[in-house]
Amino acid sequence: MTSSSRSLLFLLACLCWVPVTAGAGERPARIVIDPGHGGLKEGAKGPGALREKEVALQIAHRLRSKLEAAGGEVYLTRERDALVSLTERVEMTNDHGADLFISIHANSMPTPRMRARTEGVETYFLSASASGEAALAVADRENSEAPMSRAARGDSTLALILDDLVRTEAHSDSSRLAYAIHPRLVSRTRATDRGVQQAPFFVLSGVECPAVLVEVGYISHPEEGLKLGRGDYQEKLAEAISEGVLAFLKDTRRRDAARPAQVAGSQTP
Ligand SMILES: [Zn+2]
Repeated sequence: MTSSSRSLLFLLACLCWVPVTAGAGERPARIVIDPGHGGLKEGAKGPGALREKEVALQIAHRLRSKLEAAGGEVYLTRERDALVSLTERVEMTNDHGADLFISIHANSMPTPRMRARTEGVETYFLSASASGEAALAVADRENSEAPMSRAARGDSTLALILDDLVRTEAHSDSSRLAYAIHPRLVSRTRATDRGVQQAPFFVLSGVECPAVLVEVGYISHPEEGLKLGRGDYQEKLAEAISEGVLAFLKDTRRRDAARPAQVAGSQTP
């Protein structure tokens, strides 16, 4: 390549680089990444000493680098191997005024037979009812650190939030975010596609922005578990999630730009 064509490419790259923004205000998009578990709560067990909490944190750091490079303002709910309650994670996200929230987990199966044959990637968004028994089992496991068990929740705040969900824009945006991320995860990693799922996750329920939970793979599977511990595989996962987030934000900006502008004082009391 000649130096003039290199300069032209560089110029084009500069012109095409648009910082990732949240929409109308054109401020950088605020993204909260939530690496599951931490400290004494190790999450699921993988091959050897590999633990879900480590895999989630490593992918979160990789994802942060990519989103920051695209101009995003990124926060992690934990920076290191520390115990952070689900309630604190939710509060932190809302205090940051997040535009979107991504929780990162790895899945596991309870019996040796199921561990040997179950692998693949799933992307969840919050719903009052689970998309199936398997989805409910995942939510129950990830909710085990929640302040109350599912059975004890009854008419709690979570139940009220869940009842109200269907009417909220954040709910449909969460679904849109899940569908932006999931196919990219499958095509980048070539992992088994276990689909976009819905389930009542505690950590997603109190977050006041579009929110998804990605189960990046089955750490309990002998081969997929090993892959999840590898840097090159984690890079693919982070790249796919990052691309999904950027596509979601671009789509949101386009939608918001098409909306009629609110004129101050034009609303009737
Ligand atoms: Zn988990």
